[in-house]
Amino acid sequence: MICGKETGSDRPVCEECSRPKISSRGIERVKVKRCPSCHSVMLNSWGDVDGDDIPSSIVEKVYHVKEGDIVTSGDERNLRVSFSGISQDSGTRVEGTFLLQISSSTCPVCARKLGNYYEAIIQVRGGTGNLREALDFIVKTVDSSPSRDVFITRIDRLREGYDVLISDKKFARAAVKRTAERFGGTTKETSHLVGLKDGNELYRITLSLRLPDFREGDIVSLSSGFFIVKRIRGDILTFVNIKTGTTVQSKLRDMKDYSVLTSDNIREARVLYRQGKTAYILDPFDFREKAVLDSSSSQSIRVAKIGDELLVIN
Ligand SMILES: [Zn+2]
Ligand SMILES: [Zn+2]
Repeated sequence: MICGKETGSDRPVCEECSRPKISSRGIERVKVKRCPSCHSVMLNSWGDVDGDDIPSSIVEKVYHVKEGDIVTSGDERNLRVSFSGISQDSGTRVEGTFLLQISSSTCPVCARKLGNYYEAIIQVRGGTGNLREALDFIVKTVDSSPSRDVFITRIDRLREGYDVLISDKKFARAAVKRTAERFGGTTKETSHLVGLKDGNELYRITLSLRLPDFREGDIVSLSSGFFIVKRIRGDILTFVNIKTGTTVQSKLRDMKDYSVLTSDNIREARVLYRQGKTAYILDPFDFREKAVLDSSSSQSIRVAKIGDELLVIN
């Protein structure tokens, strides 16, 4: 008479209750929810049960029997699970039976995805034809997040670049930082009030990431002369003055009034002969003999073509 079922006078406990089990309250029901979109399963919290093998995951989580023998019967709405194995609590052999009920319920993450939820927009702009590469880097960074709460809601392709809508502010900031470190670039954050939720103001942020329009190896023309871009790291640029060979650093955001000459404007030139500080070379751009200032004794020198002028690169 454990479950209350009539058993007759010859036996005190019905057949079901007389089977060995851990619970004495009759057959236990274990209810789990499974998300129809991502198939993650919830007992107490989403993802705490292995969706690929719910019965054995429950046996381990609820009954503390690891790698027990499991027999199931019935259908998914009412799966009868019998198990036996060594209890991790007592170290002795135990067995039991429970009814597993799997119901369908959309998890909060999928609910947000389906609702086009996002907290941040990353605007990727500028670049030297490497916007797509930067976008792929952002997507890869998001995909590598171990958190299920981090996802890309949408990517918009615009004429001027990409807008990436991301579910998580903090992660979006980190992704922008990593992308700027990798590709160089300036970043700017603005936030917008989008509404109220439970009395709290809800903000969305926009993260603008502008990639530089030159690469390492390009020549930029500044008011102080011509420089080779030696290094781009985040917002910090390292230049080498072509004429003097001196190294200068600048912030990307401080770069104004400059023009870019690509590395196509730099070539190797053979020195034909020298006279004092003048080297006579074969111009690698038009194959005519030219005189340039160079006090080295190299057989060949690197020159940059800037307008009609040939400059020796130190
Ligand atoms: Zn019973
Ligand atoms: Zn889901």
